[in-house]
Amino acid sequence: MIPSQEKHIAELHWLLGILQDVDVGLVVLDRNMRIQLWNAFMENHSGLAPHKVQNQNLFSLFPELPQQWLVQKIESVFLLNNRAFCTWQQRPYLFRFDSYHPITGQAEFMYQNLTIIPLASVSGEVDQVCLILYDVTDSAVDHQALQTANKQLEIFGRTDGLTGLYNRSAWEELLAAEFKRMERNGHGSVLAMFDIDHFKNINDSYGHQAGDEVIRHVAESMRQVKREADIAGRYGGEEFCLILVDTGMEGAEHFAERLRHAIESSTVLCDGHAICFTISIGLAGTGNFVGGYERWLKHADQALYHAKENGRNRVSVFPTSS
Ligand code: GH3
Ligand code: MG
Ligand code: MG
Repeated sequence: MIPSQEKHIAELHWLLGILQDVDVGLVVLDRNMRIQLWNAFMENHSGLAPHKVQNQNLFSLFPELPQQWLVQKIESVFLLNNRAFCTWQQRPYLFRFDSYHPITGQAEFMYQNLTIIPLASVSGEVDQVCLILYDVTDSAVDHQALQTANKQLEIFGRTDGLTGLYNRSAWEELLAAEFKRMERNGHGSVLAMFDIDHFKNINDSYGHQAGDEVIRHVAESMRQVKREADIAGRYGGEEFCLILVDTGMEGAEHFAERLRHAIESSTVLCDGHAICFTISIGLAGTGNFVGGYERWLKHADQALYHAKENGRNRVSVFPTSS
């Protein structure tokens, strides 16, 4: 053998050695989708040795592959002599391989990015393509964990920690949206604002923790009495707000009385104390939509004030008569 030929073959072996050992999957296919190269990565993960797959049709060996989709991609690489890509977000994997990652043990399978590159022969013609498969399980799992965390954060940001109801700013956003919806479709909803009577006394007599327990109890009672679609929030310390969606005033008064009565007749047990208490409720319909949701809120607050002024443990409706 002439020395330059020897050198070429040595280089080829060296190159093939690299191709075998790289930590990505390499599959070379000819125009008939027959496998020409199957590296160690592919062997390790599929359990099929290169001599078993050599010259076999890819889709006969792996009938579960998305044939139509992949053939279309590969054909475009042949035709345009251009690379094609597919990320795990578009398609989580091409080959369903197990994931062996010790850190990301929760992944059910190996997430993969795929690149398909054209391979030109010496004559310059593209007669083979190479599928390059990257194991991206770590970053896919990280990404998904981050998204879950972000969702959680968003929920935390909108939720009151003590009661699990919407916090004031989230609830006001929903109130504004509900007001707009009502303006559009002419439906009526009723706004309820309520406040625990003499709550300061509860804190003073039984302690702050007992006060918290009472607040939680009110939130829970409201959840039980309200309908699914009604939008409940904690407006402030011991003040609550509720949009009774698509409800007339008669229905709203009925709801408010039920809630008032449920609270009046229940007892909160805390540190051996049986705590009895009441709430006052103000109700307001939307009226003629003038003044926006802020005015609606003000009307409900005025009704609440009226209930407090008139002896507490009662329901008042805007406009109040006295
Ligand atoms: P009224 O019948 O007029 O509503 O009287 P009130 O005592 O209920 O009302 P006031 O506004 O005087 O007192 C409310 C108290 O609620 C004062 C505040 O320290 C307490 N508070 C606010 N937020 C919380 C909380 O998250 N937990 C507890 N335990 N107390 C709170
Ligand atoms: Mg109060
Ligand atoms: Mg108050």
